[in-house]
Amino acid sequence: MSAALRQDTAGAALLTLNAGSSSIKFALYDVDGLRRRATGLVEAIGGASRFKAKDDGQHQWDASIDAPNHVDALQAIIEWIAREMAGAVISAIGHRVVHGGMLFDRPVLITNEVIAQLRLLVPLAPLHQPHNLAGIDAAREAFGEVPQVACFDTAFHRAHPFLNDCFALPRELFYQGVRRYGFHGLSYEYIADYLRVHYPHHARGRVLVAHLGNGASMCAMRDGRSIASTMGFSALDGLPMGTRCGQVDPGVLLYLMQQGMDAQEISTMLYERSGLLGLSGGVSNDMRVLLASGSPEANEAIAYFVSRIRREVGGLAAALEGLDAIVFTGGIGENAAPIRERVLAGMAWIGVEIDEARNHANERVISSHLSRVLALRVPTDEEGMIARHTLNTARIAPEIAAVSDAAG
Ligand code: ADP
Repeated sequence: MSAALRQDTAGAALLTLNAGSSSIKFALYDVDGLRRRATGLVEAIGGASRFKAKDDGQHQWDASIDAPNHVDALQAIIEWIAREMAGAVISAIGHRVVHGGMLFDRPVLITNEVIAQLRLLVPLAPLHQPHNLAGIDAAREAFGEVPQVACFDTAFHRAHPFLNDCFALPRELFYQGVRRYGFHGLSYEYIADYLRVHYPHHARGRVLVAHLGNGASMCAMRDGRSIASTMGFSALDGLPMGTRCGQVDPGVLLYLMQQGMDAQEISTMLYERSGLLGLSGGVSNDMRVLLASGSPEANEAIAYFVSRIRREVGGLAAALEGLDAIVFTGGIGENAAPIRERVLAGMAWIGVEIDEARNHANERVISSHLSRVLALRVPTDEEGMIARHTLNTARIAPEIAAVSDAAG
């Protein structure tokens, strides 16, 4: 850290942004010690927008606002920070960016050239990347020269061995970038760091992480590095998700095209009307609702979700040639004890024995003391990971010294 920055860290803050199609989530951190001061979001951008936030104490904010686009939504966040987070001076901004393509295997300081490269990746993630870029554009407009860092969901997986990176398609497609990128990388990286600190022996071994939220995937790690993931070229592959299909026979898509569905209709179906929502016959994409529903279709959707996870445990453990630890994270992984229990039932063959009482109490360690494989429940912190990356990446950049020089 430059001496100039150190002098004025008292008010120096980092802002993390996660811009989606109709929302911007944010978190505000003190640069000093990376203490989180507040989190919040603007939702329903372009509609009946609301601003919601909570600070690290008891205070909560919830108000309807006028936010027809991402620029206005960000403006509302900036005004709120200026009003409520006394003395916070935004010194760097970290953005969650879904796709870093073949180029980015680590966070990068955002420049015009980086933005041009990220725009080229829009066709690879048409439902996410444009919104991430809209967030970056809005932040650059609002913050001028403040250093901004792009943190990628794909970066953690970029060292996949070739066999877990390719599809058996004509080779030229691989060279064009049709690869298994894998996603949720910021979450997996956080878990890898957590294990390094708290379970260093296991961190060096063979670990399976199940990130089970609205989006869901699993990652096989060896020595803290991703070697395989259930997600592939897009954020559709692998496990069924809230509304996304997960693994599907490509022949089904050919059939639907031959039946007259166009690319847009198929895309909407795969991203928005499939997964738990589709298989439950429209009951819900939300695991809490499904667990409470009791309808046969809801039960089948849950059973399919669980069975796909169990299959992937077997497949990924084979890729790792064994298993030392399994970690559950994400909204479902962290909170849904019945799902964890069903995933781990009858897994003694792979060395996992669940402790039902610990699991139901949502404890950190959920395996029994007899279990050869350690089973953990670890809340993820993707924003915290972005904040750390932003600090580290912006710190080595000359711009942050320039900003703090100007401020001091
Ligand atoms: P996102 O991928 O959008 O970040 P989350 O990680 O917040 O999503 O996960 C949302 C999912 O977690 C929803 O399906 C929700 O029902 C589920 N979930 C949250 N709390 C519980 C709970 N106590 N029991 C079961 N499912 C839960």
